[in-house]
Amino acid sequence: MRLPHTLSHAYLITGGNASSRADCARELAAAYLCTGERPPCGSCLPCRKVAAGIHPDVVYITPLEDKSEISVEQARSLRSDAYVRPNEGKRKVYIIDPAEAMNQAAQNALLKVLEEGPPYAAFLLLAGQPGMLLDTIHSRCEQVALPPQEGQRDPELEEKGVKLARLLLAGDELAAAENMAALEGEKLKGTQLAQLLGAAEEEAARALAQRPGRAAAVVRALKRCQENAVYNPGAGHVLGWLTATLFS
Ligand SMILES: [Zn+2]
Repeated sequence: MRLPHTLSHAYLITGGNASSRADCARELAAAYLCTGERPPCGSCLPCRKVAAGIHPDVVYITPLEDKSEISVEQARSLRSDAYVRPNEGKRKVYIIDPAEAMNQAAQNALLKVLEEGPPYAAFLLLAGQPGMLLDTIHSRCEQVALPPQEGQRDPELEEKGVKLARLLLAGDELAAAENMAALEGEKLKGTQLAQLLGAAEEEAARALAQRPGRAAAVVRALKRCQENAVYNPGAGHVLGWLTATLFS
């Protein structure tokens, strides 16, 4: 992962899966505490302590045993702990995982320290379901959206994407239109459509060497569709636009 030059005091880490979010949080925590030249160097003492999970200035907040929620009491004790200076590092890093386990009261209790906590305090909120967090939490954090993991890619969608690309490359308007009508009937969600179009783009890109003109046009159109697909405009709309662009 490439880290930004200056670190924000709060990040909301979403996407990926629970373990890739945890890895990302550990890397960021090491970057805050690293004493090497290019944080996180991975070899200085603080970096090694963070990696081993034994750095005293990295504090994990998770639901207590037998509980599914992070309680308001936990959020309040985080808040008062944040005003106690770090033990040995230059920062104190709080990793809240999963952040959506905070109930509404706990999220509210966290807001103030998130906005105006002491300068050495840093907060890493990990969320698989960021929609469960208050808008005010989102707005106080910088967003880190991790890419989907290999296993999260749906092979059926990928296959459909490859088929679509081949039809578009072949330039057979009728066959492509039939295929798109079938896809439209599947009521795909925005993220699914984006994945399908992504697979189609990869397939089209493979044809660039043999058929530069047509393949480039297909790649360009698919790229634009994906950018819009995440806003969920509906598969019919996106595919209609694809047809209009490539067969006019
Ligand atoms: Zn280091």
